[in-house]
Amino acid sequence: MLRCHYASCKRQQEINVDSKLTAGGPSTVAQEGMPSGSWIFLRAMRLLLRWLRPCVKQGRSKPSKRLGELWLYSRLVLRSLCFNDLTNSDVVIDSLFEPVYWVVDHLTRWFGVVFVCLVVVLTSSVLIIVYSCLLPTVISTYSTPWALWHLCYGHWNLVMVVFHYYKATTTSPGHPPQVKCDTPSVSICKKCIVPKPARTHHCSICDSCVLKMDHHCPWLNNCVGHFNHRYFFCFCLFMTMGCVYCSVSSRDMFIDAYSAIESNSSMEEETQGEVVTQAGLLFSILPPGLVTGQSYYQTPPPPYNFKDKMFHKSIIYLWVLTSSVTIALGGLTLWHAILITRGETSIERHINKKETQRLKNSGKVFRNPHHFGMINNWKVLFGVEKRSHWLTRVLLPSGHGPYGDGLTWDWSPRRRDLVAI
Ligand SMILES: [Zn+2]
Ligand SMILES: [Zn+2]
Repeated sequence: MLRCHYASCKRQQEINVDSKLTAGGPSTVAQEGMPSGSWIFLRAMRLLLRWLRPCVKQGRSKPSKRLGELWLYSRLVLRSLCFNDLTNSDVVIDSLFEPVYWVVDHLTRWFGVVFVCLVVVLTSSVLIIVYSCLLPTVISTYSTPWALWHLCYGHWNLVMVVFHYYKATTTSPGHPPQVKCDTPSVSICKKCIVPKPARTHHCSICDSCVLKMDHHCPWLNNCVGHFNHRYFFCFCLFMTMGCVYCSVSSRDMFIDAYSAIESNSSMEEETQGEVVTQAGLLFSILPPGLVTGQSYYQTPPPPYNFKDKMFHKSIIYLWVLTSSVTIALGGLTLWHAILITRGETSIERHINKKETQRLKNSGKVFRNPHHFGMINNWKVLFGVEKRSHWLTRVLLPSGHGPYGDGLTWDWSPRRRDLVAI
């Protein structure tokens, strides 16, 4: 009781001291709504006095010991301010690299628009060359059935590429709900502060959580997630097929165009500045000066005109571009095909690899919970529920949604249906 009374008196004294020290402050604060300079100075002095009070009380202790206590106290205060149970070396490294991530994310976000324009421009240039150079040659050279096959396949491939690219760029990959709900979650996103369902990851470029996130694709300027994964893969697949078609179809024309350009350039080098006299062969037999005659420049007509040269260069551009894209995009498509067969996304591939190694060290075997069987994984991706869907949903443009909502991944009932097909 006495101690309580002492404490209340002490508190009252401190309040009185505060009132005295800040005699000129409160009115200023009340009037202006902000602390003045003198008020801040007085507050700082007051805090300093309170901090030094223990030094005066414990004046009998040694200065070195007192400094050591102060150092420990300061370190404790600093650590208490920075304490976080989830902090580890990865978090510290991430924090240090945060400015670098910020620059890369913003550059990727900005360059996404440039990359999309690049895809449109390059594809359009290939189309112009195909319609103006390749197809007329095919129609005039090949038999009617072959020409019809080229026309049908080429246009089907073109429609599939355009449709899936448009859908992949404009379809949202899917985001977890921002309000409280009963959706089962596996963790909390530190950036969005929302529960993350299974297979959900945060995209720093989009600055949001994405359901079944695969990766952020700058060529789409969009994340690849649950609702547009099929569009992304089909775009890669049909674009690769289209590039293979253009590369193979224009191969003979490319060889002809390349040799024509080579011969044309060598002929131009030979005909530049060659002097011929009326004496003809005597010029090469007799010494110079003995044979005189009127000189003139012999300029044979050029073997190829401007239109021919543009034709050859267009064919070479078409073959080089489509062959390069075939190699690069074909490798990417093959990699994603392997991932889909395993029932993994690009992010899960790294996670599962680590988990496999970790469990292997403890004598256990990792099992991917989202692997439903090789064929069933493809059926889940394409949304194939019956045989006719292979035609209507895979080989023809289709805007149907994927299986499920991307929040839960309990496939056991549908899995039985998929196996029965
Ligand atoms: Zn997030
Ligand atoms: Zn993204």
